[in-house]
Amino acid sequence: MSVEVPGHTYDATIGVGLLERAGEHLPELARSETAFVMADPTVADLYLGPLTRGLEGRALHVVHLGVPEGEAAKSLQTMSAVQRQLAIQEAHRDDVVVALGGGSVGDLAGFVAATYMRGVPFVQVPTTLTAQVDASIGGKTAVNLPEGKNLVGAFHQPVGVLADVSTLTTLPDREFRSGLAEVAKYALTLDADLLGLLERELPEILARAPGVMEILVARCVRAKAHVVSTDERDTGDRLVLNYGHTLGHALERLDAFGGRSHGEAIAIGMVFAARLAEAMELAPSGLVGRHVRLLASLGLEPDQRLPPADEVLAAMRLDKKYAGGVRFVLLEDVGHPRVVEGVPEDVLRASLKEMGAEG
Ligand code: NAD
Repeated sequence: MSVEVPGHTYDATIGVGLLERAGEHLPELARSETAFVMADPTVADLYLGPLTRGLEGRALHVVHLGVPEGEAAKSLQTMSAVQRQLAIQEAHRDDVVVALGGGSVGDLAGFVAATYMRGVPFVQVPTTLTAQVDASIGGKTAVNLPEGKNLVGAFHQPVGVLADVSTLTTLPDREFRSGLAEVAKYALTLDADLLGLLERELPEILARAPGVMEILVARCVRAKAHVVSTDERDTGDRLVLNYGHTLGHALERLDAFGGRSHGEAIAIGMVFAARLAEAMELAPSGLVGRHVRLLASLGLEPDQRLPPADEVLAAMRLDKKYAGGVRFVLLEDVGHPRVVEGVPEDVLRASLKEMGAEG
């Protein structure tokens, strides 16, 4: 499947057992001699072997650059350590950087590739559901500062994406469910057929059966690729990908990133957005119920432990969709998103209260 952004088109290949055959699926990299593969210890133990064999099939010399697990990979310290390793190992501008792992490694490796020698090619090999359906597509790369997440970054599109759905079988349960929240986001905002698939094939999806996961990941990638192609720089249409994120990010911020997972937070955020849409009579009644049933079936029961409304409202004002007032992505119905400005504060407060927030 191709992803098109202005001036650049690349393939996202989704399948089973792709790592061992990585060489067959990479684009032309005529002058690359070395593939610098960034991976954390867990992912390297599991998947560096097969990927190395796959890359060596293309006569690429493989060098592993180890990075810390999870969000810790996205720091300026790790970034400079990895860039110095590239320099020490004499990486040249045609060599390729490969991100093997979840969105954290992908965001770091992408930013390293965007800046080392003013930009070298990079390939995304996502191994979490979140990275396969979201983070590896679209070219957003970043690291964190102590002051906040993703504050330093660049748009740098990969030259290719290889999403091997067999890697999903080893994901911890909570990581998998977090990815399912992003899948639900695509289904609710952009792809009613995907919603049908989630409802029909639930047992296979929960069992991570490769056949159904391949279809599911492909549908999400298609939806994201379409949105990104119309708004690479995140100024308009791409906002719909933030469905559930206004409250979700606020909750993550209030939890200091230590409580709910990103998926758990945006699941609550999506139910909240559905409540707003019903309260404002933008959507027919029943939208909230459909959200709750879907998310609960995916193991994402929105819990009732919301912080006090004043704190939530203050945290939401820091959202990047803030533009003179909090903006929300709301649904007129499944598959019909709309950006809404100026949701009245009493509606926000009433919906937060219905979801268990005090005040
Ligand atoms: P992650 O990258 O933080 O990885 C989570 C954990 O899963 C790690 O401990 C890792 O070792 C482990 N893991 C990864 N693959 C595994 C596998 N197949 N089997 C077993 N364990 C495995 O998690 P994530 O949710 O993929 O990424 C979150 C990051 O992605 C955040 O920093 C977020 O900001 C970013 N993100 C970026 C974009 C984007 O457009 N660039 C989009 C969404 C999210």
